[in-house]
Amino acid sequence: MRAVDIIHKKRKGGELSEEELKFLVSGYVSGEIPDYQMSAFLMAVCFQGMAERETAKLTLLMADSGDRIDLSPIPGIKVDKHSTGGVGDKTTLIVLPIAAACGVTAAKMSGRGLGHTGGTIDKLESIPGFQTELSRKHFFEIVGRCGLSVIGQSGNICPADKKIYALRDVTATVESIPLIASSIMSKKIAAGADKILLDVKAGSGAFMKSCGDAGALAKEMVAIGKSVGRQTVALITDMDTPLGHCVGNALEVIEVCETLRGLGPGNLTELCLELAGHMIALAGKAPDAESGKRRAVAALRDGSAFKKLKEMVAAQSGDVTYLEDTRKFRLSDMCLQVLAEQEGYIAAIDAEKCGIAAMLLGAGRENKESAIDHGAGIVIRRGKGAYVQKGDVVAELYGNSAKQCDNAKNLYLSALHLTKNEPAVRPIVQAVIS
Ligand code: URA
Repeated sequence: MRAVDIIHKKRKGGELSEEELKFLVSGYVSGEIPDYQMSAFLMAVCFQGMAERETAKLTLLMADSGDRIDLSPIPGIKVDKHSTGGVGDKTTLIVLPIAAACGVTAAKMSGRGLGHTGGTIDKLESIPGFQTELSRKHFFEIVGRCGLSVIGQSGNICPADKKIYALRDVTATVESIPLIASSIMSKKIAAGADKILLDVKAGSGAFMKSCGDAGALAKEMVAIGKSVGRQTVALITDMDTPLGHCVGNALEVIEVCETLRGLGPGNLTELCLELAGHMIALAGKAPDAESGKRRAVAALRDGSAFKKLKEMVAAQSGDVTYLEDTRKFRLSDMCLQVLAEQEGYIAAIDAEKCGIAAMLLGAGRENKESAIDHGAGIVIRRGKGAYVQKGDVVAELYGNSAKQCDNAKNLYLSALHLTKNEPAVRPIVQAVIS
């Protein structure tokens, strides 16, 4: 077998066999197939796509390129939750405690942010002392005791995805449905949960800009889950504007605490309750997502969800007093107010531009080696639908230099779209695919 023939076959739109895919994946992981051949193959997939069963085979080969986690020593149905990535997306830190308060077991491996999207591990590390690297034994012990634990992706999980994703990032081959589906589902399969809940983002801040493409990606991932016997449900949700009011690590943890106290922004709270409702139903703790949502509302109201987050933070050595009094979080030294340049309704805040502005302030990484400032970010003071006068404060930017703040301010202003007429409200959950 030769890589060049496989690339040629895909370039012509052919469907690859399991042997051909295996040759590529294992050859690339071992270093026998060079980056330039894998890049050519990935570009061919971007143009020609893959058949559903071909994507499923690729996913399993990637899942089996490293270790698989066996969660069976933990009793109960384990449910994983995954978001395809967005701006201001702190849902994991709200949904998992709500679900755990309703009896769901969640053992989750999360990632760091890259580019304009944030990552749960960076957010958790803004809590002083919080440990994201735990031994398998300690991780299982915390899940058994608290019902939830979130750690970084450790060890040898999906090395094929690690290597391929890094290459996709620099060869303009990220936005391909079969490549995204196999990348996400291979990690979910290797992470060992019995059931999977996916939050597939659609809009300017997401990989999938349209609802149609997000729906196609969701269907592909649900089908892959089914093919390996893991029930998978996907929600298509809005990522045209940032989720909630805060973007940036410590700022997002503060917003998580407010939301778990019942004082969070409407769109964020609504999405978290929907996701938690599905998670509770998938775990068999409610007959359907609607009843699951009612349980989720109760866990938010009676404070048991917030208590769960604090239990997990304490178990992972984080300083819980920061969650009890969020004024303790250190934000970046400079705070620059962004003022509206004209009057009108805020019809849109481009999520991608807002994510890049937060990155410029120091909240995100340009590349894997960049250091981040956990105290940097954006507080959106006037969100979508608000009517503003010229000179009103629309946002506050936290950064460490005047230049950083100025660059971010210009980008933030360019993300705002003001209109004379009140914009239509889009539902946060646009479709459910199960
Ligand atoms: N997230 C992933 O893990 N992989 C992708 O390809 C895109 C988003």
